[in-house]
Amino acid sequence: MTETEPRFRSDVTVELVKHNASDRDVLWAARVSTAGEQSLDELQKDPERSKGLINYLMRDRHGSPFEHNSMTFFVSAPIFVFREFHRHRVWSYNEESGRYRQLEPVFYVPGTDRNLVQEGRPGQYNFLPGTPEQHKLVTESMEQSYRQSYASYLEMLEAGVAREVARAVLPVGLFSSMYATCNSRALMHFLSLRTKNEDAAVPSFPQREIEMVAEKLEAAWAELMPLTHAAFVANGRVSP
Ligand SMILES: Cc1cc2nc3c(=O)[nH]c(=O)nc-3n(C[C@H](O)[C@H](O)[C@H](O)COP(=O)(O)OP(=O)(O)OC[C@H]3O[C@@H](n4cnc5c(N)ncnc54)[C@H](O)[C@@H]3O)c2cc1C
Repeated sequence: MTETEPRFRSDVTVELVKHNASDRDVLWAARVSTAGEQSLDELQKDPERSKGLINYLMRDRHGSPFEHNSMTFFVSAPIFVFREFHRHRVWSYNEESGRYRQLEPVFYVPGTDRNLVQEGRPGQYNFLPGTPEQHKLVTESMEQSYRQSYASYLEMLEAGVAREVARAVLPVGLFSSMYATCNSRALMHFLSLRTKNEDAAVPSFPQREIEMVAEKLEAAWAELMPLTHAAFVANGRVSP
């Protein structure tokens, strides 16, 4: 049944739904340079023994061996996160449609741990905790606005207006869902831009909500490709 009562979330969902990705995939792809078809023998070997090769490829930015793998994630996050996410063109995406289905009333409200106050200059903002009054204002304003826009959406649908027209009143805080597929090189590029990390040789200042998605993507990937992940971190979180 379609939901009509608004729900409010301050988290995001990331689930690894399908994968074909391991450190071995980097090794056999790299070794074709010197071993030709015998590089497939790498599939039987312990990748730990070739840790140094992965580190060398990462350090010297030989990126293509990191492309022979695939990870598909289910992501549910606010539309403003998807707008940023979809700028990453070397991923593949399929997203739910506001033309073909009635959009569910799930909306983003920042949690109490989300910093609210911005300082610094464009491109290098720092965010500081909000006061309890600011958090109360943000929560109440957002919830009120979301309820109002969703009520207008439903009113138009009930009057027979097409979903693709009525959806114009819905805000970017509405949750959407998608499948997103990438290889580890594309993921490293994404992580280098969408996380703020002290180990980064080139700092980035992403919006917190896409960083919440990025942190979950990184945790799932690190389990599949631990040596590649370790080399990425050790080499300043720069995509090869
Ligand atoms: C902190 C932050 C703030 C941002 N602010 C803004 C903003 O204010 N306004 C805005 O519009 N965007 C903004 N962006 C988005 C940014 O400009 C990029 O679009 C986004 O980060 C995707 O990066 P990408 O193009 O490198 O990635 P991808 O599209 O995944 O591409 C990966 C790599 O492939 C290569 N590539 C892909 N397509 C091409 C191409 N057509 N030509 C040449 N090489 C290509 C490049 O080497 C590229 O780095 C921001 C991003 C960040 C992280």
